[in-house]
Amino acid sequence: MQYPPTKLPKVGITIFTEMSQLAAEYGAINLSQGFPDFDGPLALLDRVTYYLENGFNQYAPMAGVVGLRNAIALKVEKLYGCEVDSETEVTVTSGATEALFSAIGAVVCAGDEVIVFDPAYDSYEPAIELNGGTAVHLALTAPAFSIDWQQVAQAITPKTRMIILNSPHNPTGAVLSAADLDQLEALLEGTDILLLSDEVYEHICFNGTHQSLLRRPALAKRAFVVSSFGKTYHTTGWKVGYCIAPTQLSVEFRKLHQYLTFCTVHPIQLALADFINDYPEHTLELPEFYRQKRDIFCELMESSRFSFVPSEGTYFQLMDYSMIAPEMDDLSFARWLTKEVGVAAIPISVFYESPPEQRLVRFCFAKDDETLRQAAEKLCRI
Ligand code: PMP
Ligand code: GLN
Repeated sequence: MQYPPTKLPKVGITIFTEMSQLAAEYGAINLSQGFPDFDGPLALLDRVTYYLENGFNQYAPMAGVVGLRNAIALKVEKLYGCEVDSETEVTVTSGATEALFSAIGAVVCAGDEVIVFDPAYDSYEPAIELNGGTAVHLALTAPAFSIDWQQVAQAITPKTRMIILNSPHNPTGAVLSAADLDQLEALLEGTDILLLSDEVYEHICFNGTHQSLLRRPALAKRAFVVSSFGKTYHTTGWKVGYCIAPTQLSVEFRKLHQYLTFCTVHPIQLALADFINDYPEHTLELPEFYRQKRDIFCELMESSRFSFVPSEGTYFQLMDYSMIAPEMDDLSFARWLTKEVGVAAIPISVFYESPPEQRLVRFCFAKDDETLRQAAEKLCRI
């Protein structure tokens, strides 16, 4: 028989899988794929155990456990001054990945254009293409990686359905400012363009004021805002996230969600709800927790031949290796670093449609201080 042609000809194994496998194969310290090498809070793990052992192992409500949706609504009201209806506007998903996929699938149709900023997180474009849309790539440039709103204005056409934003930004660590949101607001006024805001690192922002789209009613009314508990509670393997969107958009979003997964893992939702209510300080302390890790890593790397500007958010730090291997492309450099130096990193070019001439790799500093010390020691020897 003949199998059908691939629907995603550009897609292979992700760079995260490739580099983590290479790290394991060569016994390298894995600063590539983004995940902590420490556990989530004990009190949270205890609550999961409690619910696992006490009969909460059947389907959760389709849109998410009520207590968790209420906790999310309370948080965005406190932090961003945004009142959302937890019944109709908040949906708990199986990771931010599912939320991104459902949001794109809910509104992107054949022939639509979606503006994405490169380097772009790898899951956006396949979701756009599976729905018959086209990703319109706008490149952000080092070292600031800020958005050129003039360029965005020029890229908008009658076919533009959506713009995808990501702040704090993976892989660059750049964050959007209030002035950026002003520009975006002005640009979209009077249009029907939708927004998908990937805010999974909302609680890892080092200037203290994450500019969520939820702060701006004029933007929130056209936005799917996505976050992930994996980043906030050091539990990336649990794959629990959520999407906030106005009722009409949430109705469409849930049509996809209910047939992709129907609902998200039940005992973990219950545990998260308890933990968020009992330990509200966790999210408030998170920026300082990760700022210290960033500073430890950056300080240790001062004596290396890498050059860098400290990251403004996320748990990633970009480093320029042009003084070490000016001729080597970043994928080759990341592989070499893993095999020969014993530290795995992520090359940046894979997140661009047309990669610029730059020599940057991404390191994840969500690691025990001792892991960071050992990695930096190896990196400072080259
Ligand atoms: N968006 C970005 C920018 C990310 O870094 C990640 C982390 N993998 C995700 C989405 C997906 O989050 P999750 O693991 O909750 O699916
Ligand atoms: N978001 C994680 C990162 O940027 C990877 C997630 C994945 O492996 N798909 O490293």
